[in-house]
Amino acid sequence: MERKVAVATLGCKLNFAESSAIAQQFVRGGFAEVSPYSSGVDVYVVNTCTVTEHSDKKCRNIIRRLHKINPDAIIAVTGCYATLKKSEIEKIEGVTFVLEQDKKGSVYARCAEILEGSPCGISSAEHIFPAISYGERTRSFLKVQDGCNYFCTYCAIPYARGRSRSVPVETLVNQAEEIASKGVKEIVLTGVNIGDYDGGLLPVLQALDKVSGIERYRISSIEPNLLTDEMIDWIASGTKFQPHFHIPLQSGCDSVLARMHRKYDTSLFASKIAYIRKKMGDVFFGIDVIAGFPGETEEEFASEVSFLKEIKPAFLHIFPYSRRKGTLADKMDGHLPESVKTERVKTLEALSDALHEEYRLRFVGTRQEVLFEGRVKGGLMGGYTGNYLRVERPYVAEQIGQIVPVIY
Ligand code: SF4
Repeated sequence: MERKVAVATLGCKLNFAESSAIAQQFVRGGFAEVSPYSSGVDVYVVNTCTVTEHSDKKCRNIIRRLHKINPDAIIAVTGCYATLKKSEIEKIEGVTFVLEQDKKGSVYARCAEILEGSPCGISSAEHIFPAISYGERTRSFLKVQDGCNYFCTYCAIPYARGRSRSVPVETLVNQAEEIASKGVKEIVLTGVNIGDYDGGLLPVLQALDKVSGIERYRISSIEPNLLTDEMIDWIASGTKFQPHFHIPLQSGCDSVLARMHRKYDTSLFASKIAYIRKKMGDVFFGIDVIAGFPGETEEEFASEVSFLKEIKPAFLHIFPYSRRKGTLADKMDGHLPESVKTERVKTLEALSDALHEEYRLRFVGTRQEVLFEGRVKGGLMGGYTGNYLRVERPYVAEQIGQIVPVIY
């Protein structure tokens, strides 16, 4: 009988791409991929995240839930949380083994060994585990890079995923061609710190832009100091890279940025935004911010809010500061009460809503190209414009996976 594998993923798009690659290894090994809540699952892979305390808790809860559903299944746990808290996870009932982030590429081999009762000969993890997600018919995530050398004071990711390393450009082009051959039109480049690509990111973007069949690219996130003018000039010169940038700011106040050990200040950030706007017009900026970093005063928070009002991004991705053991910020003085963080998150959410509405309204009545992704509630289909505005229209089966002109 065909064996069944189910993969549960938490966290970032990079994790989703890697989970998809793990599932493909199992499928090539003769497994059927099923939902985690199916009966008769032989192997669970839980690909964890440790970005906040809440993510750790969610991982533990999922493991317990899966063990309850199929108590005899192998539960293999990997990912960032598995790297930082291996022994904590090993103690959870039902966990068969835990593999750190750098051994993620060996999850299938280890499970095959256990199921066959004999070593299958693959024991070492790949140095960098290439990964593509095929979860969606219209958009795939392609892993370009892994790890980070930056060691921002609040972040545990460099400890979990290790130092920066890059997938070779030839591999990426082959993977993009494979994605295109499946009819997917859009690729999102993922990584932990993509801009730190070995030898520079621009040649990668230029090589991928030539892959026929792929009509749109987005970069999932890029550090502002690594987004070079040369890269912006090239993207603006009529490439498949969409007018949509996701740039982590984390704080809009220079003293907080310095305590975070970020590699830029607000003036560099503002100048990048202005340069992109000058070259590409009214692009969509999604910006990450952390609310309530240790020692963040009312004045510092107020200066962040006024900086955000000045640069006017289209959306804020807001994270309340979360203590991560082993990081420098965890040892800093001035940790703020949860109530203060919650208040600041609320203020930023209200600002984000207002900024998004202001941005969106500027496009009402304009002609936009939408890649429709699939059916949504109410007999509608949903998709995104090039500048990442959500559009819903009455469902038309033939338009799914197609880029369709609409009046926004
Ligand atoms: S750049 Fe900073 S925040 Fe981003 S992964 Fe690296 S250490 Fe973490």
